[in-house]
Amino acid sequence: MTTSNPTTQQGTSPKRNIAPFLEDIKQFIPSENIYTDELRTLGWGTDASFYRLIPQVVVRSDGEEQVSKLVKACKKHSLPYTFRAAGTSLSGQSVSDTVLIVAGKHWEKYHIGENQDTITMQTGIVGAKANEYLKPYGRVLGPDPASIGSAMIGGIVCNNASGMNCGVHANSDRMMVSARLILTDGTILDTGDEKSKEEFRKTHPDFIKKIEQLRDRVRADKELSERIQLKYSIKNVTGLNIRPLIAYDDPFDIIAHSIVGSEGTLAFLSEVTMKTLHDYKYKASAMVYFLTMKESCEAVVAMKKLKAGDEDIKMSGENLMVKSAEMLDYKSLSSVDDPVFLQYKKDVDAGKIEGVEPGDYHNLTAILTETKGITHEQLLDKISKIKECLQAFSLYIPAEFTEDPNIYGKYWAIRSGIFPSVGGTRPIGTSCLIEDVAFHINDLPEATVKLQKLIADHGYDDACIYGHAFEGNYHFILNQSFKSESEVKRYEEMMRDVARLVVEEYDGSLKAEHGTGRNMAPFVKYEWREKAYEVMKELKDIFDPDHLLNQGVIFNDDPSCFIKCLKPLPVLSFDYDAIPDGGHYLPSGVSTTQTTIEEVKRANKCIECGFCEVNCMSCGLTLSSRMRIAVQREIRHLETTGENPQRLATLKRQYKYYGDQTCATDGLCSTSCPMKINTGELTHLIRQMDMLNSSAGYKVGEFAANHMAGIKTGLRMVLGVANLGHSVLGSSVMTGICNGLNKMGMPLWTTAMPKAISQPHHPKHQVTNSPNDELKVVYFPSCINQTMGLAKGAPVKSSLVDATCKLINKAGYEVIFPEGMKKMCCGQIWESKGMLDIADRKSAELEEALWKASNEGRYPVLCDQSPCLHRMKKVIKRVKLYEPAEFIMTFLKPRLDFHPISRHIALHITCSTREMGVSQHLIDLARLCSDNVFLPEGVGCCGFAGDRGFTYPEMNKYALRKLKPQIEQNNIEIGYSNSRTCEIGLQTHSGIPYMSIVYLVDECTTPKA
Ligand SMILES: Cc1cc2nc3c(=O)[nH]c(=O)nc-3n(C[C@H](O)[C@H](O)[C@H](O)COP(=O)(O)OP(=O)(O)OC[C@H]3O[C@@H](n4cnc5c(N)ncnc54)[C@H](O)[C@@H]3O)c2cc1C
Ligand code: SF4
Ligand code: SF4
Repeated sequence: MTTSNPTTQQGTSPKRNIAPFLEDIKQFIPSENIYTDELRTLGWGTDASFYRLIPQVVVRSDGEEQVSKLVKACKKHSLPYTFRAAGTSLSGQSVSDTVLIVAGKHWEKYHIGENQDTITMQTGIVGAKANEYLKPYGRVLGPDPASIGSAMIGGIVCNNASGMNCGVHANSDRMMVSARLILTDGTILDTGDEKSKEEFRKTHPDFIKKIEQLRDRVRADKELSERIQLKYSIKNVTGLNIRPLIAYDDPFDIIAHSIVGSEGTLAFLSEVTMKTLHDYKYKASAMVYFLTMKESCEAVVAMKKLKAGDEDIKMSGENLMVKSAEMLDYKSLSSVDDPVFLQYKKDVDAGKIEGVEPGDYHNLTAILTETKGITHEQLLDKISKIKECLQAFSLYIPAEFTEDPNIYGKYWAIRSGIFPSVGGTRPIGTSCLIEDVAFHINDLPEATVKLQKLIADHGYDDACIYGHAFEGNYHFILNQSFKSESEVKRYEEMMRDVARLVVEEYDGSLKAEHGTGRNMAPFVKYEWREKAYEVMKELKDIFDPDHLLNQGVIFNDDPSCFIKCLKPLPVLSFDYDAIPDGGHYLPSGVSTTQTTIEEVKRANKCIECGFCEVNCMSCGLTLSSRMRIAVQREIRHLETTGENPQRLATLKRQYKYYGDQTCATDGLCSTSCPMKINTGELTHLIRQMDMLNSSAGYKVGEFAANHMAGIKTGLRMVLGVANLGHSVLGSSVMTGICNGLNKMGMPLWTTAMPKAISQPHHPKHQVTNSPNDELKVVYFPSCINQTMGLAKGAPVKSSLVDATCKLINKAGYEVIFPEGMKKMCCGQIWESKGMLDIADRKSAELEEALWKASNEGRYPVLCDQSPCLHRMKKVIKRVKLYEPAEFIMTFLKPRLDFHPISRHIALHITCSTREMGVSQHLIDLARLCSDNVFLPEGVGCCGFAGDRGFTYPEMNKYALRKLKPQIEQNNIEIGYSNSRTCEIGLQTHSGIPYMSIVYLVDECTTPKA
């Protein structure tokens, strides 16, 4: 038995000679999509499970032809390979120690069927995106895993993932219409295409024959068929999916449906057509609190018997009144500080709960119950019938359904908050495991109580049980250390006891929705028994005769494989005391250094789930946020153990570009992280640590901070010279020269580069000395807007500072510039470079000036650059700060008349706008100005990242790769945003001008009549 070591853990098989394979695949895969270095194999090898295998090579694929050739090459060289979508799997099924083939980005095409009752999707589409595409038609996907915001269709189908609303009736097996597959010999088979099937019959008669023979044999065995029927009457993803053998006659349907839940062990799924469900218009939820767990389960059994009408079948594929019933045990309620649970504790201690001793809170159990209606009357009828049913049970407080999304949203937030709350409070260095079992519904009351006791008996005092009670499907979360033999042993014994309980006593499912992986592979035969297991093996042999696909997953002869290759989680720690702290400069005392350190400490809570990757602009270009944390953990581990200095040096060197320099530090990763981890702060801290070793870098930073006015003047001169060059040489010559200079390390110049502007001065037609304090605003033009003017050929003439002043005055407001403005800066530049103390010093100077200018905080303060404003909001607390759209909507809108134009415009919502929570203001404002506002899809962070767009233009190019086609397709003439630097990048990569929203508002408004 091994507790794995991150530096040496290469899986269970020996390292193979992959050189000839690499030679072959380089013929058809661009070398930039093949990774063999230490850093990226470690990064891409990390999935959400607690297993660690490091692939020898990671290949990013972008089309069927490539995958077809890749699988042929794996076959030729006898190399095991694993497919990977979003890598959010929990059971160790998306890791590999040999070849890892990634098929996520580039696999994102889709097509909605004529009546919207089907959707055909390539398998790299994120589940939630597919639901966004379906939303306008009132449709949704059947499968609804909690990870739907990150998990991709390939992973959802191949894991047969499901969630709160998706019982057996709506899983991928039931929803699948057809599949497009790449088989292990490289053949492409589309089961939705007659021609493809005809061709396959001719080329693969044996394959078809074997499927038919297996089907007929299984069907002829009544006992086996009935067992299969029974096992799939509840959620079950243990082993291969063999239901198709009894559910479908056509061999092509059997082939397609076998892929569901196959965890990449049978074939590559390239495209899938699924039925869609209707989304109900009327919904209501109630958090129902029961006095005992047993009673809560009895109530679930009773509610499951309440049948709705047949029209429900058309809507959702089933006709139950209750659409979901999520159980939350007392530990779950406690983990999220549920207010009713807190009240219950008080009542228990006051002796108010009959038969319960003070201090014993374990009985209270909640069932979050949801019902839905096609009409409102139908919803009310369902609510009344459910309440009637609940009258037979002892509730702690009466059950109240609410239709108010604000209230039921809070209930569901409590439910969703369990996992991060439990995971977030675990001891540092331990893993957060989620187990996933299912019982038949009638066994629920007894089995649940036994499960709770079993977990407690193994000493997992902080474990909680929650989940989809309506499907008999529970998750339990364990905070598990794998540092010592005894801890691993404890886990092993608990898992073996769980297996005994679930299988021997209740014939339930050891995995209901998370996949078998390596975690349950040794228990597949135990759960299914010999005959069914043999059928699974035969199915595997038909599809993958060489057993190269995802070795060790589902089929694994090692009875202890579930406690091998365990992923350690070394603690991230730095020499925090060495970091200069600029907090004393700031009146609020909110030090950037301290907040950064807190954020980095929070990164220790990372469970490597990968939910951040959808928002990480560098994911796919270099590393993602999850990979940065995984690599940093490894680096810390190597530093503290001194184990492998060579690997340490290599990782550190490679991290410089892939981890550090290409992180946009925008923090968007935190927005989809269940633990709210901002990996950008980790980057800031690493940059600060590097700065400590570079006194030259710090001196430059110091100099810049002390000579801000001069630097702004210098920058104006540089921009002036560049503009002159542009005018004299023309766009193409200038671009060519500057691309060459960029390769030599100079910042990149593009045609979107601004001209210089003169130092801002008070506007000409200024309303001054207004006696009305209500109508004054302090305007701090950011350094960028004090120096950079418009790009050559811009469709407007005045600088942003002038345009902003003009608009403010139009609404009758007086503009006040802070004193000494040309020396001021918000500190953002220093923060992003990792000079956190200097950043605070600059912010403090600015705060003082704003405090004075705003008459000690009486007037609002406007900044025209959203990233700067975001920084200011974090550290400057004494004045009221506004970003342009929020300011206009709050103060100017009531004093202006809007005259919308019909011009097609695009809007770019910057990262900082999103993080400040003011995106809606920007969207609403744009819609007041134009009837045709377009928000490009798949464009998050623009990758310009302050000034990184100049030095690492590849970031900007990659982040905006989806922009231009959408701009062209939608005939967009101009784009608007609220960050000048982002606008430079957007203009470069869209082919249309981008400028501040202020120009648009100015164009479309007149003073209120
Ligand atoms: C916090 C958290 C909550 C979760 N909640 C749920 C939940 O509620 N319900 C649930 O069911 N799961 C849940 N999961 C597990 C996981 O997110 C899902 O199973 C998800 O569907 C996996 O999708 P993925 O894109 O990450 O796939 P991956 O992990 O990349 O891959 C999944 C499997 O499919 C294979 N595969 C991927 N793409 C292909 C392809 N194109 N062709 C062939 N094989 C392929 C892989 O080899 C692997 O075996 C959760 C995970 C986390 C971290
Ligand atoms: S940073 Fe957050 S979202 Fe990303 S892997 Fe870690 S826990 Fe998951
Ligand atoms: S800050 Fe941005 S680029 Fe850096 S890890 Fe987070 S999302 Fe990715």
